[in-house]
Amino acid sequence: MTILSTQPTTKGPAEWFAGDVWFDVVARAEEPGRARVNTVRFAPWVRTAWHSHALGQTLHVTDGLGLVQSRGGEVVVIRPGDVIWTPRGEEHWHGAAPDNFLVHTAIRKGDETSWGNPVTDEEYGYPD
Ligand code: MN
Repeated sequence: MTILSTQPTTKGPAEWFAGDVWFDVVARAEEPGRARVNTVRFAPWVRTAWHSHALGQTLHVTDGLGLVQSRGGEVVVIRPGDVIWTPRGEEHWHGAAPDNFLVHTAIRKGDETSWGNPVTDEEYGYPD
């Protein structure tokens, strides 16, 4: 058994996020397993760029209010307790609502994420 002490929080890179996003590692991939778990904190209005995960991704919302959208789908509001599964290769984005922080746990089964264009202000929007 190993008790891991808290490690420094790291900031998400500007090319993948529209503003301040902070990561705390929960679980690193350890061979032969490949799952990675992070706590991710988005400032209000901040969202990822469009992207997909080669092995899919589970998000578990733990605080705040957020938005998620798959390519071709509607923008959907996500709240604490929601679990969002995005299958492998499905292009999507996720982020905070315009006036709220969003905190989610992100679980990936592998490290392969393909990044695309930023989410435009026209694409980003709180549904009516
Ligand atoms: Mn994702």
